Amino acid sequence: MFTFTKPTLRRAIAVLLLLCTAPMALARGAGPTPTPPPAAPFVAAQAAALLPAFSGDLAQASAWDRYTIIAALSPGERRVRGTVTVAVTNRSPRPYERIYFHLYPNHPDFGGRLDITSATLDGLPVASGTEQGDTLLWLALPRPLAPGGVTQAVLSFEAQTPRNASSTTFGAFNQEAGLWSLATFYPILARSFAATGWDRRPIESRGDFVVSSTALYDVTIDAPTDWRLISTGAKLSTSAVNASVKRERFVSGPQREFYLGATQGLDAASVTVDGTRIVSHYQPANATAGKRALRVAEQALRTFNARYGPYPLAELEVVQAALTTFLGMEYPGVVLIEQNLYKQTGGDLEPTVAHEVAHQWWYSQVGNDAQGEAWLDEGLASYAQVLYYEGVGAPALATDELNFFRDGFTAIRKRKRDAPLATSTANLRGIYEAVAYDKGALFFHSLRGQIGEATFSRFLKGYYAEGRYREITGPDLLRAAESACTCQLDQLYADWVLTTAPVRIP
Ligand SMILES: [Zn+2]
Repeated sequence: MFTFTKPTLRRAIAVLLLLCTAPMALARGAGPTPTPPPAAPFVAAQAAALLPAFSGDLAQASAWDRYTIIAALSPGERRVRGTVTVAVTNRSPRPYERIYFHLYPNHPDFGGRLDITSATLDGLPVASGTEQGDTLLWLALPRPLAPGGVTQAVLSFEAQTPRNASSTTFGAFNQEAGLWSLATFYPILARSFAATGWDRRPIESRGDFVVSSTALYDVTIDAPTDWRLISTGAKLSTSAVNASVKRERFVSGPQREFYLGATQGLDAASVTVDGTRIVSHYQPANATAGKRALRVAEQALRTFNARYGPYPLAELEVVQAALTTFLGMEYPGVVLIEQNLYKQTGGDLEPTVAHEVAHQWWYSQVGNDAQGEAWLDEGLASYAQVLYYEGVGAPALATDELNFFRDGFTAIRKRKRDAPLATSTANLRGIYEAVAYDKGALFFHSLRGQIGEATFSRFLKGYYAEGRYREITGPDLLRAAESACTCQLDQLYADWVLTTAPVRIP
């Protein structure tokens, strides 16, 4: 999630919502034809995104939906046109009447569009509609999909981002400063729960937008040859479509979403750490800072591999981006870092890169409801800033990070604005960072103090091992901590997570 320069700048930006999603004529043959591979070769190809030691994770593939995306980029128009084919399995105990997809770019903060130009289920056109201000699409199944059943959804889409808009809209869906960032450019399947059905909540401006389940992606992109593609996962192949257009194919491995970006005029440097190739993309004028970001990511990966357990993916990319109203943003296998941090002599680049790299464990691998329980990933990613400095032998800087969190939490307590960690982002107006990040990080410091160093280390490793590819809730975290310490932590949990008890600030 973000760390903010000026929290008050983060707000919903009113932009004109085009409510009509009437199908536009998508010229046949205008883009590549969707030909999704059958399940077995689809899954086998995914191994390229994983380190060899983790290719066995793909034995769990039946638990994950499969996306095949075929799209073409037009950077001049800031448009992506393509088709996504999703093999959707009903893993709930009840029949599905509808399938739901999030259309994140239609949220006013994005300042862009994602239009669905045609949709079929198992080859048949179906009734469809949108909810929540065009950010949620439903497709009606011609007949209910029984538990365990699979349907193939094929959606043609067209997305458009703004340009040079990071000061007023979400910078990760924008073309600016050498990066065309296309976060959530395609329809993303909503989550579905046994008890409550589909996740149809409105999307909050505060915090991370995307809440999605682990899936496998096979993505083929046509792009002008003078743009370099950045993505979740690993590149399988590159070929020439013609003299000016190339075709690149990527696989994600098990990931919660597929990030795509394209750079023009940025330089890149890379290093391999514990088998994972890290690439830093930066503006040529900021080469020194770009190489520093690479070094920080390298140290962070090494530190977190040791503290949490190994990062299983073959690649990680760190990208200098025009984010403007926040400092960093995590995607699976890709982190975006605000461009001005590369231009300053101050110390914000290092903790921001460490924080976003930590999200590869907390959010990307171990998932959580980022809009309902943001503290789970933000608290741990913030506390990772402390663990990072400890890991690189800089205890004074670790203390500085703790003091920053203490100041933030103390300030809201003085204003009598404390809130339980288990508060949804919708109910954290004005105190989102102080609660999810500052109080969240201090909860983990308090837990560490209570259960001791060795037990805390065991907890981190156990929590990661148990939570990988899953979605964790607060009670799951409590159980993981209690199982590490073989002790009761209900009181600590109640004081910090469920109430605003006047906890001692550690
Ligand atoms: Zn974060």
